[in-house]
Amino acid sequence: MSSANGENPKILQNFIDGQYVDPVKASSVKYIPVTTPHTGKIIAQCPVSTAEDVDKAVEVAKKAFKAWSSRTVKDRVQALIRFHNLLYTHIEELAELIILEHGKNKSEAIASISKGAETVEYAISLPQLIQGKILEVSRGVSCQDARVPLGVVASIVPFNFPIMVPFWTLPIAIATGNTLILKPSEKVPLTMNRVVALLKEAGIPDGVVNIVNGTVDAVNAICDHPEIKAVTFVGTSHVANLVTERCQKLGKRVLALGGAKNHLIASPDCNIETTSTDVVNSFSGCAGQRCMAASVLLTIGSQQALLDRICDKASNLKPGSKPGEVGPVIDKLSLDKINSYIAESERAGAKILVDGRHWTSEKTEGFWIGPTVILHTNKNDKALHDEIFGPVLSIYESSSKEEAIEIENGNPYGNAACIYTTTGATADWFISRFNAGMFQYLEPFSFGGINRSKFGNFMDITGDGGVEFFTWRRKVTTRWGTGDLDLKLKM
Ligand code: NAD
Repeated sequence: MSSANGENPKILQNFIDGQYVDPVKASSVKYIPVTTPHTGKIIAQCPVSTAEDVDKAVEVAKKAFKAWSSRTVKDRVQALIRFHNLLYTHIEELAELIILEHGKNKSEAIASISKGAETVEYAISLPQLIQGKILEVSRGVSCQDARVPLGVVASIVPFNFPIMVPFWTLPIAIATGNTLILKPSEKVPLTMNRVVALLKEAGIPDGVVNIVNGTVDAVNAICDHPEIKAVTFVGTSHVANLVTERCQKLGKRVLALGGAKNHLIASPDCNIETTSTDVVNSFSGCAGQRCMAASVLLTIGSQQALLDRICDKASNLKPGSKPGEVGPVIDKLSLDKINSYIAESERAGAKILVDGRHWTSEKTEGFWIGPTVILHTNKNDKALHDEIFGPVLSIYESSSKEEAIEIENGNPYGNAACIYTTTGATADWFISRFNAGMFQYLEPFSFGGINRSKFGNFMDITGDGGVEFFTWRRKVTTRWGTGDLDLKLKM
């Protein structure tokens, strides 16, 4: 276990063929310090793997694919059933790791593990869901459509959900018979480093799930490797685009989810109490580091009572890691970026209604910034358009519902949007006009936005989108004579 006080940081290894191993070029390997955002202290060292490490992982994953893919789906999910139990018996331990390396509060960490468990549950039910289709298309002629795994696949993940996002892909990828190479975020590698040991304990055979730690070199090697048949990516739009282009040059199947700038619209008839609670939870939960987080609130007309309740609730939040408290942001780079957007908005004439910057000056260690609410009067303020990825809510009072939808439609992302109203017709008006992929999301529905929130455009992640992504369809037409058919007709 790594230390939170910065003494004896754990030196991480890759996980290949069921073993923790040093990178291939062990004598020259570089390490990236992993810090705890609570204090900024170094808690581990993450190896920067090279193309040789990806080669090695692919070699064992390819070997493991033969036996793993030849097992039935019913057989494969038995280990996932055992793993699901292990996930819950180790939930406290895993939550502590997430709190330590990411900074989520306790209830957020637990909830993120439960959300990960839901995709395991979906994968466990695949024997009931992916039985394929068969139809007698002509007398004595049958067509069959069955799902076949792709081979070695890869998943590249961001820092903001150390277990939940890797689990958007891992359970479905392996339950459908593929073998997997996971590239965790170098900022939060500890949780998945522990989870793979639980997968092994559950009976997932060696080589079926492999971890290659690192950054750009490992990602590029994954995109370029001819034996990796499909790549999923979740992270910023800039990198999602790079990964997509790199994979598509080789004709590789790729699904890359990018960043977000989610707009919420408050109609004058919204319920002030539930709307204000929801908006504050959404923009400040996980310190705003969620792709589904609220980032812009457009009120239709001036709604002072709603703004007052939002400010009230936001300014009462406390820093910390207990349930209900707001944790730190991931690192100094992120903290500086968030602070710079607030400062720039202020310079441009926006009003800072709740200023979380005092947390930064009060806390002598770590990367803290409190919930911040900005009231903009200029539609062009950068904070209204760029992804900030911190606990910041930008509010703009639009003159009409048409102006509100025009602003939402004009943003380049398209992950999620939300309308607060007590009138069904108003909700319908907005939902049919929003330029976003998600207006709510719960397992087992697939996850994914549009525009600059999703690249590759091949299905969505999780749910049936995930099954489609990680399999190809074998279409078989058979004609074995009509003997059986005659027999059937006589009966
Ligand atoms: P990131 O793009 O910096 O990193 C994601 C992964 O890419 C990491 O594993 C990282 O090592 C790797 N990487 C970073 N730079 C790279 C480069 N130049 N070339 C190749 N690989 C590179 O993202 P992040 O900061 O870890 O995560 C936050 C982002 O993820 C936010 O933009 C957030 O909106 C997004 N996100 C989106 C979704 C979604 O469903 N759309 C979900 C979660 C997070």
